[in-house]
Amino acid sequence: MTRKTKLVMTLGPAMLQGDRLREALREADAVRLNASHGDPETRAENLRRVRELALELGRAIPVFLDLQGPKWRIGELAEPVELVEGSQGVFYRTGSPAPTGLAWTAPLPHPELFDGAEVGQHWLLDDAALEVEITAVTPEALRAKVLVGGPLKGRKGVHPIGMSLNMDPLTEKDHADIRWGVEHQVDLFAQSFVRRASDVQQLQAIIQHLGGTQPVIAKIEHPAALAFLEEILDVSWGVMVARGDLGVELGVERVPGLQKQIIKAARRALKPVITATQMLESMIEHPQPTRAEASDVANAIWDGTDAVMLSAESATGKYPVEAVQWLARIATEADANVKQRAKTLPEEFAEKVLARTDISVAFAACRTADEINARWIVAFTEGGGTARMVSRLAGRTPVLGATVDETTARRMGLLRGVTSMLIPRVSSTDEMVEVVRELLQAKHELMSLDRVVMTMGLPLWKSGTTNTMKVMTF
Ligand code: PGA
Ligand code: MN
Repeated sequence: MTRKTKLVMTLGPAMLQGDRLREALREADAVRLNASHGDPETRAENLRRVRELALELGRAIPVFLDLQGPKWRIGELAEPVELVEGSQGVFYRTGSPAPTGLAWTAPLPHPELFDGAEVGQHWLLDDAALEVEITAVTPEALRAKVLVGGPLKGRKGVHPIGMSLNMDPLTEKDHADIRWGVEHQVDLFAQSFVRRASDVQQLQAIIQHLGGTQPVIAKIEHPAALAFLEEILDVSWGVMVARGDLGVELGVERVPGLQKQIIKAARRALKPVITATQMLESMIEHPQPTRAEASDVANAIWDGTDAVMLSAESATGKYPVEAVQWLARIATEADANVKQRAKTLPEEFAEKVLARTDISVAFAACRTADEINARWIVAFTEGGGTARMVSRLAGRTPVLGATVDETTARRMGLLRGVTSMLIPRVSSTDEMVEVVRELLQAKHELMSLDRVVMTMGLPLWKSGTTNTMKVMTF
């Protein structure tokens, strides 16, 4: 049984003990660096270790930097403060002295929140674990009454319900992190709280201005993004169903339906999609997932996700390697039971195909491969676009994305059912077939009389020209 679903793990201190990272990278297909936590030096060291281990394990593992984005947070707190239900306390400006004589106080490093706050507003804290109501507003302090209590830690999210104030799509911290990511050559960026396509385009322009080529995964977690999903998909490399903040913003009960809607839209746009947050949440504390979690992971796969992601489970949990291994086990089983795709082109693509030679050729290759029981589909791809498309349209036949570019090879690590293969830059199709035959025989257990379906663009090595299908019997 081979797994097609890709596994993303968030790197954090839990994974950096002993040999854990090496163990986890045997199964995990992609690594997320979370810019919301940790310092740049540690991050650089971690990235170096991932690259080194990937080389050692012979795996093309993409690393993406997840930008914090415009999210309001409580300031630093030396110790958690207890917000007792019914008690009144104060949020004060970071930098000014903490008021005394109150049940609780918490610093807030966002001056604009003092302008946007209104009496009667409800604020959710820490992903909606806590709730307060604003009872008095001054330029320096916001008095609030606790409606849902509990311990409040520093740096936790603040979500004022109904505040019309909009933040810039990229914060000062994001700008510094983008520079870091380009300098350290991460493979992709993920952008938090995307609201519309222009947010993604703005990030892309900055990356390019800094000399980077990284594509952007748009995290769908802001209500506005749902209204502009198609235009966001058009300009992004892929999307993430960011269920954590999606649940805060729109209500936990809406997450399952929204997940299906976003995955479907991504598939229709022929773009990859990652499903994230709380996939194996209980494994932060326990060595085994719950039945509900196993079911959730499998259902995300049956919804059509490319990848499933671990957050705190792998970054700060007690069982980070076990979490990756359980995710692999559940995904492998779910993949074996994925409903076969239609034998005709799904209706949602029909319109596109009329205009696009590459899509129709890719689809024909995928269908042919299934019909003749081919061992592999080999998609030749320069920037990865063809592999992305073939991954979307493939049925049961596994896909090899063949490329001369190492970065492209790594990025394909996020695509469902796609294995990357690095090939030399040959100059004719005959040479190409030879190279593939040798690599397949050496690495992928090709047997004699196995058939392989290839898609390529002729003339060779011109991006975005897939126009040819070739069926070889080796
Ligand atoms: P985060 O994004 O972990 O960066 O908040 C994912 C989510 O909101 O689900
Ligand atoms: Mn989020």
